Amino acid sequence: MTKKFIEISEVGPRDGLQSVKSIMPLEAKKAWVTAEAAAGVPEIEVGSFVPAKILPQLADTADLVAHARTIDGLCVAALVPNLRGAENAVKAGVHKITIPLSASETHSLKNVNRTHEQMIDEVKNIVALLKTLPADERPKFEGGISTAFGCTLEGEVPEVKILELATAMMDAGCDEVGLSDTTGYATPGHIVRLVRAVKREVGNENLTGLHIHNTRGLGLANVVAALDHGITTFDGSLGGLGGCPFAPGASGNIVTEDLAFMLDSMGYETGVDLEKLMAVRDIVLDAIPDEEMYGFTPEAGLPKGYPNGYRTEE
Ligand code: ZN
Repeated sequence: MTKKFIEISEVGPRDGLQSVKSIMPLEAKKAWVTAEAAAGVPEIEVGSFVPAKILPQLADTADLVAHARTIDGLCVAALVPNLRGAENAVKAGVHKITIPLSASETHSLKNVNRTHEQMIDEVKNIVALLKTLPADERPKFEGGISTAFGCTLEGEVPEVKILELATAMMDAGCDEVGLSDTTGYATPGHIVRLVRAVKREVGNENLTGLHIHNTRGLGLANVVAALDHGITTFDGSLGGLGGCPFAPGASGNIVTEDLAFMLDSMGYETGVDLEKLMAVRDIVLDAIPDEEMYGFTPEAGLPKGYPNGYRTEE
């Protein structure tokens, strides 16, 4: 029986690096992306197209995209907050763009100074831009719903609001929607409830990815819950880079190495070579030695003799 493929999307060069003080030199970023792609990670979000004065850590995103595009078979992804960002992402040649739309309007206003309606207009403007491109040069466009599981400002975000935004983004022309637990509020039960509701609303095939944080230690439990409900792409950050400002000692995103180990041990195909993946940490640690890296599997190592006797095969 062929194993089911689950896609790991590395977001460390974006979500991780934007959350740390150190600025990683471009050459180290290139080496990181090259090594992680060589370890078999199929998709890497290499940066965000925002003004350098807002996120100086990501000022070289276009250069990193140019490099990443030379790597055979790698899907090069980037975040864009608005039309201007999308224009720059297209110019740089990314394969996939994601626009984050915060389900909490308070959060949206505070972060990007835009209401939901204004954000949906921006999504429409980006779709119009993408339509001017020949089909083979058109990046895939995902509408990412952030703070989907709750917001530090508003608390619970009503499910009906998430469904409304997911529909609005699909209607505006997104190729798919994704759910982000920006605040680390999600629990396995909540994941199941929301994934099922959104899939029912926009169609099973239009929600395939989750972006999960490990703020409260439930990251991998949330992944397991989502695997049973048709989610096939998970974001992770190498070494959980970025940490969590609210929970000292906790990683930010789920740790890519732990995610890859868990999926492999459950009998899923990820394409990732675990030993090679864990070796990539050295590149990051050498480049930004003041930052903390997390992860249980890389610290403890793989179980002796792994995978013999450990991996579940269907
Ligand atoms: Zn995040």
